[in-house]
Amino acid sequence: MNATAPVTIIGAGVVGMATALTLQREGRQVTVIDRLPPGEGCSFGNAGGIGVDHAFPVATPGMFKRVPRYLLDPLGPLALKPTYFPRLVPWLLRFLPTGSTARIGSTIEALGAIQHIAYDCWQPLLKDARLLDEISHTGCINVYENEANLEADLPIWQMLWERGYKSQRLNTSELRQMEPGLPQKYTCAIFEPEFRHVADPFKIVTTLAETFQRNGGTILREMVSAIEMGPEGPRSLRTNRAVRPVENLVVAAGAFSHRLAKLMGSKAPVESGKGYHVTLPNPGFDLRHFMVAAEHQVAITPMSMGLRFAGTLEFAGVDSPADWRRADAVLKVAQRVFPGIQTEGYTQWSGDRPMMPDSVPVISRAPRFRNVFYAFGSGHYGLTQAAVCGRLVADMMSDRPSVIDLKPYRIDRF
Ligand SMILES: Cc1cc2nc3c(=O)[nH]c(=O)nc-3n(C[C@H](O)[C@H](O)[C@H](O)COP(=O)(O)OP(=O)(O)OC[C@H]3O[C@@H](n4cnc5c(N)ncnc54)[C@H](O)[C@@H]3O)c2cc1C
Repeated sequence: MNATAPVTIIGAGVVGMATALTLQREGRQVTVIDRLPPGEGCSFGNAGGIGVDHAFPVATPGMFKRVPRYLLDPLGPLALKPTYFPRLVPWLLRFLPTGSTARIGSTIEALGAIQHIAYDCWQPLLKDARLLDEISHTGCINVYENEANLEADLPIWQMLWERGYKSQRLNTSELRQMEPGLPQKYTCAIFEPEFRHVADPFKIVTTLAETFQRNGGTILREMVSAIEMGPEGPRSLRTNRAVRPVENLVVAAGAFSHRLAKLMGSKAPVESGKGYHVTLPNPGFDLRHFMVAAEHQVAITPMSMGLRFAGTLEFAGVDSPADWRRADAVLKVAQRVFPGIQTEGYTQWSGDRPMMPDSVPVISRAPRFRNVFYAFGSGHYGLTQAAVCGRLVADMMSDRPSVIDLKPYRIDRF
């Protein structure tokens, strides 16, 4: 394989575009193919958090006791479409053991290793794209409605503290001082100082895409439907418009990546974890920090276009339409957290998080083909991890040693 051979990336989400820019910075000729314009998949409407010291797997030891309560609560953070359940069972059977006490430590370590270097990897890309002003470094406040709920979550925070994470417990007066806009009922919180957030996640992707194109990169708006294989790997992509020859291929197709991986003989248990947001253009007050309403698992982000509430995890299959009752539930959470909040003109959105059963992304060379690379499955942390995905793919493609051990992210771990 030629060390500077051109690269084709399937997927113009935040992972695909961060990877494209990273490879372009190394002098490679890169083409990105997506059926949608850049950033219009899951990367459009996330909560905008870059969680450098935030490494929570979805499955945790205490979670399973809460699942029935979550599923019964219409405002709860979890939903499951009953007719989809039989198809979800194989994924659930992989997912459930990852929350065991025996496995949770290694999952946190695998996640943490990439979260720790996330912002360092983002910085050069943000600088090139003149996006550094879009990042706020004010930390994240995880607010709890009462001490008992915070205490119930302490075992997982404890696991992070044991691994050197710098979050700290806030008492009532510290909380009031840091976030005067928060209602009085909130008296306790955990603060993550290294957390950053972006003013508009969609703008991040579109500006990366503009920078990439300005520097000579190509973006094609096409749907990849088949991959023509030769003995050494893929030779060309068949799209709705043309047959596109490929040399190096990166699959960064989010929650659809398993379909492309399968065409190249790799199994990848990616599941869609639908999430929803509502964005309120004039909520009637200002917030300084990215926050998480811990009981509802809803992120609250002050953004350039308003105050965004984002959350819920719905398993209904990647091809299912959005269930807008889930967005209504997020709005109700907003009204519960901030009674009297002004909701006029709010917008709502849904996106498919690419979820791996162990909450750890796939960042991997294909086992059988040296010219195929996978970068998907970042689940709740795709904005955070996008630039790391790009960095690690670039290392693999250039046969350089990486700053972290790549074993936990291999596609053949399943
Ligand atoms: C409510 C919510 C809140 C979130 N909050 C955060 C947060 O605060 N911080 C954080 O780090 N992450 C967050 N996330 C997660 C993050 O948004 C995702 O992990 C991330 O957007 C995934 O990016 P991606 O590039 O892998 O996928 P996508 O953005 O979905 O991009 C994949 C692209 O591949 C294209 N594609 C797929 N198949 C094909 C094909 N065959 N041919 C052509 N194109 C194809 C799609 O059209 C799509 O554009 C949140 C997610 C949700 C839903």
